[in-house]
Amino acid sequence: MRGVIMHAPGDVRVEDREVPAILEPTDAVLKVAAACVCGSDLWPYRGVEDVDGPSPMGHEYVGVVDQVGDEVRDVQVGDFVVGSFFASDNTCEICRAGYQTHCVHRQPGAATGAQSQYVRVPLADGTLVATPGQPDPELIPSLLAASDVLGTGWFGAVAAEVGPGKTVAVVGDGAVGLLGVLAAQQLGAERIIAMSRHADRQALAREFGATDIVEERGDEGVARIKELTGGLGAHSTIEAVGTQESMMQAIRATRAGGHVGYVGVAHDVALPGEELFFSGVHLHGGPAPVRRFLPELIQLIWDRKIDPGKVFDLTLPLEQAAEGYQAMDERRAIKALLIP
Ligand SMILES: [Zn+2]
Repeated sequence: MRGVIMHAPGDVRVEDREVPAILEPTDAVLKVAAACVCGSDLWPYRGVEDVDGPSPMGHEYVGVVDQVGDEVRDVQVGDFVVGSFFASDNTCEICRAGYQTHCVHRQPGAATGAQSQYVRVPLADGTLVATPGQPDPELIPSLLAASDVLGTGWFGAVAAEVGPGKTVAVVGDGAVGLLGVLAAQQLGAERIIAMSRHADRQALAREFGATDIVEERGDEGVARIKELTGGLGAHSTIEAVGTQESMMQAIRATRAGGHVGYVGVAHDVALPGEELFFSGVHLHGGPAPVRRFLPELIQLIWDRKIDPGKVFDLTLPLEQAAEGYQAMDERRAIKALLIP
């Protein structure tokens, strides 16, 4: 089969690889229908994270179950399934509390890399969710979005306690931030302020439910949000970047008693204790327990109530994966979908 390997920062190749086999009786192997390049794949691509030898890439995937291990009960060969980036048993105490990304048995969900023709998924019953039937092709991008960026944006909104009557600020206009806007709209937010300075992303944010756009960043961006909220700040802020600047922007844009849901993977973020102490805001976030939300998100997509697949503005054959990385790195594309 063919699959993506990152050799070094900026060096992504599609190579011949072994078709993965069942290793554990709880494994499944999927024939991948679609995969994509994640914003977090850009950290090693840009050399911000180390590339530890040749690495199979990709952790967002949908596909058809091709093989299952002897102990897999709920997922069957032929099912179309959506997985997530961490595998979970979905039975331990942490999973039952809705924190599957912190499962006591957690491990990479796409064990052999999802940017490939086949992928091995551990703990198949606890990780994969089957769709109600074989999806129409036009639903596949949205189902793929559920695998990570939609689930992550959704968790950001839930962690920020988004709800009816609330004003929500969203820091970050990548796929997760944009889908945080969509989630906030679905969860009943009254006002949604998207922070973006790119016209195409602003347009998509508005389509997903943003009521206001703030182009300023940093302290100026915070000042704009205060201005829009009677000097108080947002009730709920979704942080979808993961830098020091974005995290402080989120905390400072939130009113006392409000909530920050942080879902941008943090890189060198250090919070000043004294400012945090006097801010009076709640902080919650981390790697999104996408598995918690998958059944609900799949149903919303299946019923065509949401169309999160619109974040994919570039579709390429798997063989051209390197172009997908490059386009996202240069911000020519919001998110690249790869067809094996
Ligand atoms: Zn668990």
